[in-house]
Amino acid sequence: MSAFNVAKFGGTSVANFEAMSRCAAIIEDNPSTKLVVSSACSGVTNLLVELALGVQNPDDRQAILDKVRAIHYSIIEQFSEQEKTRYSIDTILTTLSSMAEAASFQSGDKLTDHIVACGELMSTHILTQLMIERGINAVRFDIREVLRTNSDHGKAEPVIADISALAQQKLYPLCQQHVVVTQGFIGSDVEGNTTTLGRGGSDYSAALIAEAVKASGLEIWTDVPGIYTTDPRIAPKATPIPEISFSEASEMANFGAKILHPSTLLPALRHQIPVFVGSSREPEKGGTWIRKQVESAPQFRALALRNNQTMVTLRSPDMFQTYGFLAQVFNILAKYQISVDLITTSEVSVSLTLDQTNTSGQAPELPADVKAELEQLCLVEVEYNLSLVALIGNKMSAKKGYAKQVFGALEDFNLRMICYGASPHNLCFLVGEAEAKKAVEVLHRELFE
Ligand code: ASP
Ligand code: MG
Repeated sequence: MSAFNVAKFGGTSVANFEAMSRCAAIIEDNPSTKLVVSSACSGVTNLLVELALGVQNPDDRQAILDKVRAIHYSIIEQFSEQEKTRYSIDTILTTLSSMAEAASFQSGDKLTDHIVACGELMSTHILTQLMIERGINAVRFDIREVLRTNSDHGKAEPVIADISALAQQKLYPLCQQHVVVTQGFIGSDVEGNTTTLGRGGSDYSAALIAEAVKASGLEIWTDVPGIYTTDPRIAPKATPIPEISFSEASEMANFGAKILHPSTLLPALRHQIPVFVGSSREPEKGGTWIRKQVESAPQFRALALRNNQTMVTLRSPDMFQTYGFLAQVFNILAKYQISVDLITTSEVSVSLTLDQTNTSGQAPELPADVKAELEQLCLVEVEYNLSLVALIGNKMSAKKGYAKQVFGALEDFNLRMICYGASPHNLCFLVGEAEAKKAVEVLHRELFE
């Protein structure tokens, strides 16, 4: 099979005409790029989420719709052939307007997915036309024909086998003739309802599609030139990482480095597709390659920070249950499909954090019925305003004294929960949101500078 590259562009990469043109240049530069996955134009998904939550006042609603329209029109205005694309955008905006009105009466997950999907549906119309005007043989494809998910609106799970079959049947042949432009983030369930993979889900879409067409490479173009040792806005001396392993990068994505959607690397790893992360604004700066095998495996690789953590502590008060307590707790969580990130346990209590990658992006709540059921079993305490700091590396505990080095640097911080041991690639802890950045800064200085 010839080289088949999938290129994904994030919201800031397709924010306006200039940004989109840079994407087109990147696509032109790599003749093996046959499939392009795009996010919504920067800011659009947030506006759509607002509409989906239900805006009561019709004028306010119209104002948001006007903003959405303006973002797209300002790009179309630069085209030589404007009519067709403007018509496509108008058609979507008309539907959007009625859905926004419906949401003002009653919002819901299913309607939200239909509304937020409009961002990617619009951006891909525009990107396709822009590419055509540059002479690229581009064609737009509605990924809902291929990206089959379950019906879990807002955070749908892909059905891998179906995606693969549908992609081979509908998408792969098209990629032989054209450069195909399609949507990230969105999919559809078996009944044809639009679904989404959760905020930031375009990366994951791109990886799922790359897997399904058996791509030989996946490029994720964003607004930072690759993965850094930590967020340079927190630690200005943070440096780019040229090469990182799948395991390390997955830990980073899972633990909050906002560069990649946490699930992105699963499909790439399954099919050993090397992933490149770079900045579409400055492609010449290079970026980070994520591969199975890498040359160096340093003890400390990077630090990631994730805010909006919800910690739930469960205590079985009279220790009467000498066994089975954890099993009961997790049975309840499983029954309500509550996904857990971190866990620490003692014999009679367990602390855990709730998974947070839902479409709203807010701190996850422990639903009242789940709480009530857990309370039949134990005392339940829920805390908000916490941040998770994750230290990523390799065989961290292999070297003596590492704990002293890490925790010594953090002696002035009140660490709420510490997890280490399950993965050789990560150590993480919770701190109060107010002091989280400081903790990252101090630790970065100690371990990386
Ligand atoms: N447009 C969606 C979002 O803003 C998906 C993505 O950009 O990855 O979350
Ligand atoms: Mg994004």
